[in-house]
Amino acid sequence: MISFIVHGGAWDIPDEMLDAHYQGVKNALEIGWHILSNGGSGVDAVEKAIRYLEDDPTFDAGRGSFVNALGEIELDASIMNGTSFRCGAIASVQNIRNPISLARLIMDKSEHVLITGMGAVRFALENGMQQCKSDDLLVGRELQRWKDLQGKSTFSTKDAFKKKLPSDTVGAIALDKNGIIVSGTSTGGTPNKYPGRVGDSPLIGCGTYADSSVGGVSCTGWGEAIIKVALAKTIVDQMEINGDDPEVAAKIGIDRLQKKADGFGGVIVLNKNGVPAVAFNTPRMARAYRTSEMTTDIVVV
Ligand code: ASP
Repeated sequence: MISFIVHGGAWDIPDEMLDAHYQGVKNALEIGWHILSNGGSGVDAVEKAIRYLEDDPTFDAGRGSFVNALGEIELDASIMNGTSFRCGAIASVQNIRNPISLARLIMDKSEHVLITGMGAVRFALENGMQQCKSDDLLVGRELQRWKDLQGKSTFSTKDAFKKKLPSDTVGAIALDKNGIIVSGTSTGGTPNKYPGRVGDSPLIGCGTYADSSVGGVSCTGWGEAIIKVALAKTIVDQMEINGDDPEVAAKIGIDRLQKKADGFGGVIVLNKNGVPAVAFNTPRMARAYRTSEMTTDIVVV
């Protein structure tokens, strides 16, 4: 069994943006599936699919990310291998075109799990990864959103989610032919975020988790709430300790997010057998998946 699932955020995606979200997650699924079905690794499938979504300006990850209160783009990402239990993550990093690849570099070449800001850039440069220009990440839509938000002192991240503003973080989970589960997540965070603010996406156990003997999770939504309930690990624990199937575990996780932390968001899940599940408490969530037991892709926004 091989299996692959991707997401492109959970929010009230407007009708005019449905097609771009649909195409984005569809193409990312194809990239990951092509790698897995040719015997490639889950790490490669997750990294390459997320790189595609980071390069697609539709999503709040890499190019197209939200702008922080100082007018900068700060990126968060993480990746975890559920067999080796190695993981890599970056937070509040500027001028890196593909944050998921830097997270992977940290997983592959560092003894650390999470490196922030200038330290992560330094690690990238030391290992041959180039910096990009801020303009390589900035798109007109987000510059305009940032301008519109200036001077609105009442704006908060929680309001953004309550008002169903964009939440376009991306993520992927793979089960490869060697039975290895890999999860990854990448984001520009939230609109007009406080400089240095870090959400759930780069935090192992919150936005991302993988344990090949149980399953994997990637989250999207209001990061402050997701952190409080350690959503990704909570869902893996439901599968491991309660023996829940992935759909039940995903739903319990989202219910807990809402009840305990008043949170909004969505999750994708694979269990150790590659059975996929999705749960969200937002109007829409962009996702796509395929397993070797299916004859066609499922792509839904
Ligand atoms: N979870 C991300 C964060 O809070 C945002 C998102 O999913 O869109 O940084």
